[in-house]
Amino acid sequence: MNRRQLLRSSGLGLLGGTVTRAMARSADLEGQPLGSAPTSLPLSEYEPKSMLHVPETHVPKARFPVIDIHTHLTWSKKVTNGVALASEREILGTPEECLAVMDRKNVHSLINLTGGYGSSLTETVKNYDGAHPDRFITFTEPSYELFLQPDYPKLQAQAIEQAHRDGARGLKILKTLGLYLRDNITTGTLIKIDDQRFDPMWDACGQLNMPVGIHVSDPIAFFSPTDRFNERYEELSNHPDWSFYGRDFPSNAELLEARNRVIARHPKTQFIGLHVGNFSENLASVSEDLERFPNMTVDIAARIGELGRQPRTARKFFDKYQDRILFGTDATPHGDEFPQQLFNDALYEIYYRFLETSDEYFDYAPAKTPPQGRWQIYGLDLPESILRKVYNANAARELRLTI
Ligand SMILES: [Zn+2]
Repeated sequence: MNRRQLLRSSGLGLLGGTVTRAMARSADLEGQPLGSAPTSLPLSEYEPKSMLHVPETHVPKARFPVIDIHTHLTWSKKVTNGVALASEREILGTPEECLAVMDRKNVHSLINLTGGYGSSLTETVKNYDGAHPDRFITFTEPSYELFLQPDYPKLQAQAIEQAHRDGARGLKILKTLGLYLRDNITTGTLIKIDDQRFDPMWDACGQLNMPVGIHVSDPIAFFSPTDRFNERYEELSNHPDWSFYGRDFPSNAELLEARNRVIARHPKTQFIGLHVGNFSENLASVSEDLERFPNMTVDIAARIGELGRQPRTARKFFDKYQDRILFGTDATPHGDEFPQQLFNDALYEIYYRFLETSDEYFDYAPAKTPPQGRWQIYGLDLPESILRKVYNANAARELRLTI
């Protein structure tokens, strides 16, 4: 079934009577008989243009140099059932093409979270961090293919130490942990995020001052049925494999609780809760976590759509946790399938507009229709003192970086 058929069969191909009547009226004005007006419009073809007249501010460069804590410049070449099983990297964006955008947009450093491990990590560090010091910073990842080895806990801690020697500055945990990794790696029962086999890995990161960028769970709508009530229906229709509804998946709450047990058990390890601690729909809950865990910060990657649709709550959140929020985008060169992550000038300009201006009702992603839910966002108009921290000072502190 293609997407159009899916929309039709689920009833979402039909928009409400309001649109149909409006179209009929405009057709009438153009001299066409009312009867010829379409009776329905597929949701996928609906691209409403805002008729609001409100200020539109173009922010070509960030007010202060930016450290983007969350990008993907390389990616594992082999992924089976959601688990990366090879160190070999696919190069998504070369240093040269990234630097051109960075220089135009006042981005000082990109943190490539998915640098892998082993010889590919060494290669990545050499080509990016080594060739352009502090403009690129690489994180390592767990070697899940070793998971069944009896001494995996020790091997994984040693792999972190080796990665540190090879130049990795932090560890990235993809949502693999909690949603894909199983007791036979790609099959069997899901492994819990707080499985004790990972404890030496978390400890090694603490000892080596390597922050852990941790992605746990996903938008809460991904845990609900993909039906007419789902606020991210179109996104889930485009990416049905992003749904974690049903089957043997834990709930969002269970995943976050397991993550929180890890953060509590490893107070000397610094955790960056990616995507606003993976619960940007509920900033009260993220605030509770930040209150509980002094060793936790958050980034805003791929979540300005959420923050910007609750601008008053988000502004209070930024005021209160201005020392704990890191700038991130989830930018992926050539990631055309996910416009909210597509690494280009337009993406950065939207983030800057969101943080720096009081503009109202604008797109949160460079896309024809909003890709993460059909709404628009409002700028936070942050003062310079907070912008400086969010753009670079907080990340510089976490990464022990001087810019
Ligand atoms: Zn990411």
